Amino acid sequence: MKQEFIERADRVMAATYKRFPIVFAKGRGCTLWDTDGRAYTDFVAGIAVCNLGHAHPRIAAALRGQADTLLHVSNLYYTIPQIELAEWLVKRSFADRVFFCNSGAEANEAAIKIARRYFKERGESERFRIIAMENSFHGRTMATLSATGQDKIKKGFDPVLEGFDFVPFNDAEALRAKIGPHTCAVLVEPVQGEGGVCCPDPEYLAAVRQICDEAGLLLMLDEIQTGIGRTGKLFAYEHFGIKPDVMTLAKALANGLPIGAMLAKEEVASAFGPGSHASTFGGTPIVTTAALAALNVLVEENIIERGRTVGAYFKEKLAWLQNRHEVVAEVRGLGLLLGLKLKSDGAPVVTRCMQRGFLVNCIQDNILRFVPPLIITKEEVDALLGCLDEIFGDLSPTA
Ligand SMILES: *Cc1c(COP(=O)(O)O)cnc(C)c1O
Repeated sequence: MKQEFIERADRVMAATYKRFPIVFAKGRGCTLWDTDGRAYTDFVAGIAVCNLGHAHPRIAAALRGQADTLLHVSNLYYTIPQIELAEWLVKRSFADRVFFCNSGAEANEAAIKIARRYFKERGESERFRIIAMENSFHGRTMATLSATGQDKIKKGFDPVLEGFDFVPFNDAEALRAKIGPHTCAVLVEPVQGEGGVCCPDPEYLAAVRQICDEAGLLLMLDEIQTGIGRTGKLFAYEHFGIKPDVMTLAKALANGLPIGAMLAKEEVASAFGPGSHASTFGGTPIVTTAALAALNVLVEENIIERGRTVGAYFKEKLAWLQNRHEVVAEVRGLGLLLGLKLKSDGAPVVTRCMQRGFLVNCIQDNILRFVPPLIITKEEVDALLGCLDEIFGDLSPTA
């Protein structure tokens, strides 16, 4: 049965994804089942998306209710879930206003556009360049791949959009040196996700904030992966004692429904007047209802705190693995955005985990990334770590 689905997919779908040969049929909490009924513990969570795991009863109930009521009317009109979600985000963040869209790339598009327009409206038309980081990831649209600091993302799509400069992540002096008369903003992930779960030094983002203030630049944080509790705080910037001027969200915001958001301080947000930017589906009732349900569960059930505690435990256990196995080069991450850098290729490890019923993800060839639902338990972490211990034991003799 599975093979037939895969053959059908390979006949008709664009070949943009290198997929694993699993067809998933259902999920519950941190477990997924394939069409053969095999169970997997999910340490991928749809790439840091399903904070509350799969088929959460409160999200399902909210969706059912909204599905019976109103799915979509466009942004020619107001709808209540969209208003409530914007209020929720404004109340708990640095921001005064929210623009809704449908993905991370779209949220970053909105950030890039608002930075340019903000300076145009202030009469500083010459300031349009954005400094981004080497090794960053901001999306796959033309503007966001142009802002991405990885050649492999840009390959074959030249010419990229004009107006992006790159400096090494976690190097405040390199950033300062790159600023020129055309620079208008800095775009940075608080922890680089796709780039390899790279955490900055504790003082780096405060230095970036200060540099932006001195040069009159907007600080734009891409919290698409780090936001919504992933790192142990609602937003990762809360770890670093700073506030951005613009922030983008997506992945976990609606626990699996497609959504993006660009949040900004009033002064910056005012650059987006009527007609300046738009999205047909942005903030549509069904999706914003899911987001509100997910965020309410997150707060009422202290899920972020739980994730922070399990994340600290998980990281300790990864350090234990590193001590035991020569093949482990480094443990990285914050909260439940964790990485394990290997001295060898990660793909065989991912395959063997899958055979043993664990989904993990490998990025940058040799970094295992763990981004499970925030409701993952210590027992589930222990089970994965036991599996990894055995796999690494086979790769190299234990130290
Ligand atoms: C996933 C991601 C994006 C792109 O989001 P899409 O929804 O795939 O467009 C952008 N920035 C970061 C940091 C991400 O992790």
